[in-house]
Amino acid sequence: MINSVQTSSDYDAVIAGGGLVGGSLALALSGSGLRVALVEAVPPDSDAQPSFDDRTIALSHGSCAVLRQLGLWPAIVDSVFPIRRIHVSEQGRFGTALIDAEEQGIAELGYVIRGRDLGRALWARVDELADIEVYCPGQVSATTLVDDQPGVRIAAVADQSLRTRLLVVADGARSALRAALGVGSSEHAYGQTAVVANVQVDPRRAGHTAYERFTPKGPLALLPGQDGCYTVVLARADDEAQTCLQMSDAEFLRLVQRSIGFRLGRLKKLGRRVAYPLSLVQTEALTAARAVVIGNAAHGLHPVAGQGFNLGLRDAASLAEVLVAGQRSEHHSFDPGADAVLQAYAEWRREDQRNVVAFTDGLIRLFGRSGQTVGVARGLGMALFDTLPVAKRALARRTMGLSGRMTRLARGLDL
Ligand SMILES: Cc1cc2nc3c(=O)[nH]c(=O)nc-3n(C[C@H](O)[C@H](O)[C@H](O)COP(=O)(O)OP(=O)(O)OC[C@H]3O[C@@H](n4cnc5c(N)ncnc54)[C@H](O)[C@@H]3O)c2cc1C
Repeated sequence: MINSVQTSSDYDAVIAGGGLVGGSLALALSGSGLRVALVEAVPPDSDAQPSFDDRTIALSHGSCAVLRQLGLWPAIVDSVFPIRRIHVSEQGRFGTALIDAEEQGIAELGYVIRGRDLGRALWARVDELADIEVYCPGQVSATTLVDDQPGVRIAAVADQSLRTRLLVVADGARSALRAALGVGSSEHAYGQTAVVANVQVDPRRAGHTAYERFTPKGPLALLPGQDGCYTVVLARADDEAQTCLQMSDAEFLRLVQRSIGFRLGRLKKLGRRVAYPLSLVQTEALTAARAVVIGNAAHGLHPVAGQGFNLGLRDAASLAEVLVAGQRSEHHSFDPGADAVLQAYAEWRREDQRNVVAFTDGLIRLFGRSGQTVGVARGLGMALFDTLPVAKRALARRTMGLSGRMTRLARGLDL
C-alpha cells in the first residue's frame, strides 16, 4: 500500500489528509507532471479510518461524472445504487415535493455508495499510481514557512521535513493544520447527533426513491440500496440520540416507522447503529501563504442534504483544474503556490461553498422552527414548490452538482 518513502523531498504539492476529498485530489493530479505527495494518518484498510466508514454517501450526478473521469467507476460500479427520485415531506403536514430524474431529463439524480467502498476503491487506485508519493500511515504534525527558503513551505511528517511549494489542507472538519496556518474557523453545534443504521424494507416497496422527512424532533433521511436495504439517517437532539442508541432494535424500528409512515412497508432487520455529532464548521479563509484549505477542512456540514463530500469533490476538481491548467501553460516556470493561483481557486469556489452552506443550514433552521404558522407556511411552500418547474429545476440542479461554473471533470472532460 505504501508506494515509497523518501527521507527529504521537493514537491509541487503535498496533500495533508487522504480522506475522500484529499484522495480524490491526488487521483486528479496524477499524470499532470506535478510532483505530488499524499500524507494520510490512518491506513485505508483500518477500521479506525475516519473518512471511509459505514456511512452511506449520496453521490450527486456531478460527482459521478468526476469519479468516472478519475477512472474510478469500474471499481465502484458494483457497489453503487441509483437514486431516481427524492421525496421531501414533513411529518404531520400536507405538502410534499418530488424531484424526479425523468422530469429533469436524466436517467439518475445520483447514486448511493458506502463510504468504505468508495474510500477503498480510491486508495487501491492511488496505490497503482507511480507519480503520487504516498506517506501512510503518516501525519503532518506541523507546517512552517522558512525565511531562508523563499517559495517553500515545510510539512513535518514524523522525523522528515517535506519541502513543498503548495500545502493542501484536507484533514477534515477538526483540521489541526488549518489552525497551524493561522486560519481561523467558526463552529456552530446544532445540538443534534445523526444516528445511522441500515434497515430492510418491504421488497414490493423498495425502489430508487430517497426520502427526506422533516419531523418535529429533527430530519430523517432514508437512502435506497441493493436488495431492499435502506440506510436511515436520523438526526435528533444529542440526549435523545443517546436514547436512540440505547433502545432495543424493535423500539428503534418503531420510532423510525412512526416518523416515515408505511410508504416503504414494514421496516425490519436493523443493522448496527452509529452516531455522528452534527455541527457546521466553516473556515475563515480558503488560502494562506502557500496553502489552500479544501473539503471538510473548509466546510463541515450537517448531512441532512447529503452535500458534504459532493461539495468537497468540487473543491478537489476545481483545484486540480487550476493547477493542471497552470502547469500546462507555464511548464517549469509554474508556481502552484503563487498567490495568483490560490486566489483564482478561492474566487471560483467561494460562491458554491456559500450557497451550499446557506442551503443546508437554512433547511435545518427552517424545519427546526416549531409553531403552527411556520408549519403551515412550510407545507404551503412545499406544495407550491412541487408545482413550480423552474424552482424545482434550480434546486435539482444544485443538489445534483450541476449549477454554477462547472469543472471540466464534472462535464465529462479530461483536465
Ligand atoms: C452520517 C453522515 C452522512 C453523510 N452523508 C453524505 C452524503 O450523503 N453525501 C455527501 O456528499 N456527504 C455526506 N457526508 C459528508 C462526507 O462524509 C464528508 O463531507 C467527507 O467525508 C469529507 O471528506 P474529507 O476528505 O474532506 O474529510 P475527512 O473525511 O474528515 O477526511 C480527513 C482525512 O484526513 C486525515 N488526517 C487528519 N489529520 C491529518 C494529518 N495531520 N495528517 C495526515 N492526515 C490527516 C484523516 O485520517 C482522514 O482520513 C456525510 C457525513 C456524515 C457524518
